[in-house]
Amino acid sequence: MPSVNDILTTMEYGPSPEATGEVSAWLKARGRFGLLIDGAMTAPGPGFATQNPATGETLAEATQATAADVAAAVAAARAAAPGWAALSGHERAKWLYAIARNLQKREAFFRVLEVLDTGKPIRETRDIDLPLAIRHFYHHAGWAELSTDDFPGHAPLGTVGAIIPWNFPLLMLAWKVAPALAAGNTVVLKPAEETPLTALAFAEMCLELGLPPGVLNIVTGDGTTGAALATSAVDKIAFTGSTEVGRSLRQATAGSGKALTLELGGKSPFLVFADADLDAAIEGVVAAVWTNQGQICSAGSRIFVAETVAERFTDKLIARFDKLRLGDPLDKGTDIGAVISPAQRDRIQSLVARGVAAGARLVHSSAPLPAQGSFVAPGLLLEAQPTNPCMIEEIFGPIATLATFRTPSEAVELANASRYGLAASIWSENVTLAQDVAAKLVAGTVWINSHTLFDAAAPFGGMRESGFGREGGREGLRAYLRPAATPALTEAPAPDFNAAPCPEPAQPQAIDRTAKLYIGGAQKRPDGGQSWRVTHQGREIGLAPLGGRKDIRNAVEAAHKAAGWSKMTGHARAQVLYFLAENLSLRAAEFEARLAETGHDPAEVAQTIRLAFRAAALADKIAGEVIQTKPQMLTLTRPEPWGVLGIACANRQPLLGLAALVLPAIAAGNRVVAIPAMVQPLVAADFAQVLDTSDVPGGVVNLICGPRDDLAKVLAQHDDVAALWYAGTPEGAARVERDSAANLKATWCPTGRDWAAQDLRETLTQATQTKTIWVPYGM
Ligand code: NDP
Repeated sequence: MPSVNDILTTMEYGPSPEATGEVSAWLKARGRFGLLIDGAMTAPGPGFATQNPATGETLAEATQATAADVAAAVAAARAAAPGWAALSGHERAKWLYAIARNLQKREAFFRVLEVLDTGKPIRETRDIDLPLAIRHFYHHAGWAELSTDDFPGHAPLGTVGAIIPWNFPLLMLAWKVAPALAAGNTVVLKPAEETPLTALAFAEMCLELGLPPGVLNIVTGDGTTGAALATSAVDKIAFTGSTEVGRSLRQATAGSGKALTLELGGKSPFLVFADADLDAAIEGVVAAVWTNQGQICSAGSRIFVAETVAERFTDKLIARFDKLRLGDPLDKGTDIGAVISPAQRDRIQSLVARGVAAGARLVHSSAPLPAQGSFVAPGLLLEAQPTNPCMIEEIFGPIATLATFRTPSEAVELANASRYGLAASIWSENVTLAQDVAAKLVAGTVWINSHTLFDAAAPFGGMRESGFGREGGREGLRAYLRPAATPALTEAPAPDFNAAPCPEPAQPQAIDRTAKLYIGGAQKRPDGGQSWRVTHQGREIGLAPLGGRKDIRNAVEAAHKAAGWSKMTGHARAQVLYFLAENLSLRAAEFEARLAETGHDPAEVAQTIRLAFRAAALADKIAGEVIQTKPQMLTLTRPEPWGVLGIACANRQPLLGLAALVLPAIAAGNRVVAIPAMVQPLVAADFAQVLDTSDVPGGVVNLICGPRDDLAKVLAQHDDVAALWYAGTPEGAARVERDSAANLKATWCPTGRDWAAQDLRETLTQATQTKTIWVPYGM
């Protein structure tokens, strides 16, 4: 034992292990766990062992839920759904409040159990996992109370299937269960195979509280259990996990009508500018790279430092990670615990070895690794090129790359050079620079002079292949609600292009009206020169272009060039839209006649004019919030346009259906490539003329007539189209969702809508994605 003198000389920490008595007794008493189905735990079935990653010791056995178990859990949740939804918000709030209070009472138990099951240090479960999980239930008790007032005309989705990973087991449970229950849904939750224990303890707690049977069901198991849940009769899948599984869930749920939110992987940049407080940024790396041994989707695993301070920063960082204490996760002095499993440790090591083989230099902590358990030394990969696998793939371990940049624009370029877009942090004392960079980064969350901060009120979720949908706050709750249904319209049949092909050169003299494609503000012939005759009741109305893949590509390119539109103020866009509304009014009679000649209701014109004025009115009112999160923290949400948005219209309401999608999309700052209704493409050509005369910059709206579903497929597969709206048939919607799985494009499929009854604000909500920006303040 060291003497007091020794301790004062070395200032070494003494051991400070957390007691495990209560948790060990609970594990011993249970031994094997069943499933929570319909208000009772089932008898344990054949299953799997769950281990302590820090020791390899088996903690308990959990049941492998079969497809039949999943079906029973879903049936229980469905049976309980009407009763739970019928409770008043106040009644549901009381349940959520009871859960929050009881978690709080058992906080010490849960934080130890989480350490044993995950291998993460107790400091983290004490300071991050438990407080945040409890906060989620409190926050959503509030939303249960308020949701009827705050979301008028909305209803719960029904039953939610929640699939969660192993890195924050209880917290991820809270992220999904709290908003789902608050909004009036019932839940079937599948925890990760590696970490079922806190979910099972949570199940016991809910049983003790007397939560109505079926409201929450928990099925443990591996990926096959998750896959069975994804294809079951739930109304929504809420998933957090790998991009690969997220993609398979997009495919599995395509066309099923299930709502889907995906919170996937990331490769978050950590940008250190020359004027940053370097010591603060070093502590930022500790949070960004070493929280939970780097096993966090928002890990700041790509560090970019301004060249002028890079050497100083790197030296400080290496000195800092040598001071990180690695070892027993139960010790309150431990910074770095175990990674989740030997398989994960091997995966990290093999990726890092590939990174080194590709030219990076690994510098890692010299602290000895414990003899047993799955531990990885924290480290840095220096001199990695942008093509190094460690710069591209998720490491999901306590190792980050470090590279340099020269100018802020180079920093932005490097940061955005990733298929992911989950989070980012910016370290600079210059508020103008930090805000400018925050606006330019493609990331769902941007932390300024901070990293790895979360709160139940702050929306969190990704852009690009980091997924879609947000969890947390008002927006997170909205993802568990559906707007009141409007009367559904059946889609009109598409014209048969093959029955009336008209290869160029046609005989335009025989037809008095010839429409063209509208690309980059100019009328264009289709690339293949094909046209088709528009007919109504056997009468020829005109000649329409038949756009193809190349035309869509040209239109996307034109839309990208029109990026200035997204940077304009809402006020500037509103003026253009008011002018457009006015010009539509001036040509109302002409549009009415055009619609009448194909048997469409001329009343659409007045509805479209009204919609155009409303879109103009709303263009400068699209606003985020300042939300309450942590002390001394300004947390802002910024609705940002997607960028280039694809739109495929229904074959009904040819004018209104086009305007109802295009105008809110551009009001929010998007540039669009739209496929107008095929039944009356000439009205789209007239609409293009109005765009031209209304100062809508070329490329902001591109109109490609042609076989909608074929063209929608090109849009779905196009990597430079950020999101896709499809209003055609349910079968077409299913194809669009499937075709969008490869690049994880966000889709919205409002099929069967009567655009005269559509709430424009709902469309506007779909037209943006939220960026959450955290800015600390204080002297
Ligand atoms: P997965 O995506 O495989 O697991 C997440 C959840 O999905 C688990 O509950 C898992 O079950 C379940 N699951 C697996 N396959 C399917 C399927 N086909 N259908 C439905 N559900 C399924 O992540 P891993 O645990 O395998 O981790 C792999 C990598 O993913 C990590 O190294 C990391 O890069 C990334 N990841 C990202 C996370 C994030 O927060 N964004 C979290 C965790 C991992 P089970 O675990 O029982 O197999």
